[in-house]
Amino acid sequence: MAKTAIVTGASRGIGRAVANRLARDGFSVVVNYASSNNDADSAVAEIQASGGQAIAIKADVGNPADVEYLFQETVKRFGSVDIVVNNSGIMPLSPIEKGDVDAFDRVIKTNLRGTFLVLAQAARHVVAGGRIIAFSSSVLAKSFPTYGPYIASKAGVEGLVHVLANELRGRNITVNAVAPGPVATELFLGDKSEDQIAQISKIAPLERLGRPDDIAAVVSFLAGPDGGWINSQVLRANGGFA
Ligand code: NDP
Repeated sequence: MAKTAIVTGASRGIGRAVANRLARDGFSVVVNYASSNNDADSAVAEIQASGGQAIAIKADVGNPADVEYLFQETVKRFGSVDIVVNNSGIMPLSPIEKGDVDAFDRVIKTNLRGTFLVLAQAARHVVAGGRIIAFSSSVLAKSFPTYGPYIASKAGVEGLVHVLANELRGRNITVNAVAPGPVATELFLGDKSEDQIAQISKIAPLERLGRPDDIAAVVSFLAGPDGGWINSQVLRANGGFA
């Protein structure tokens, strides 16, 4: 039977490219999403059209009951959990001085509490030889104004990854994070002007934005046979945006 990968936030953007790539690598893929039903259905159809196996499961990563359901349903449908990619994330921007506690709570709920809940279920379900991959961001090193709540959430994610890698000692399961630089998705392009996008695109020496497939290739490496000796690392995939 094929190995199984859960990809959270796989209806759009980077997660969708990761789901496609892991399906091409031979995994049965669970396309998780929170609200974009149509996008999730089309992600599944895209994988199936290329001969891959996929199902969509709706679950808000910030909700413990939803995350438990996501894993239980995966085991029911596919038999095991081999790879977990917690990619789902949001990026509301707000200067710290504004004290926008709504934006802070929202981003912490999805990015940090969501990662915590997904890692907890992953620790219970992932089989020996499995891989757990979380998502941080290369923007941590930049400390750009307005990124306070988002950077706080991703710094927390990096902490969780190192602790879980230690907690899983002896189980032959790796735990890593991928930290992309700017990638052309809704999350990044969002409310930025063309000028801002052009400026940020030039920061990396490779002088372009990342593409979802650039990041999917890194996840594929960590999830595949060649990534087995990488453990407790944050892989900064950013074209040199350091
Ligand atoms: P997108 O906005 O393009 O996609 C986000 C995905 O996450 C969607 O599938 C969305 O599904 C899902 N999602 C959002 N909230 C939840 C939730 N509560 N539960 C489950 N799924 C949810 O984002 P990107 O593809 O750009 O980002 C993916 C990851 O990469 C994020 O963790 C982000 O922080 C990180 N990253 C992105 C960078 C970039 O420049 N794009 C740079 C560095 C890191 P739905 O629509 O159904 O809610």
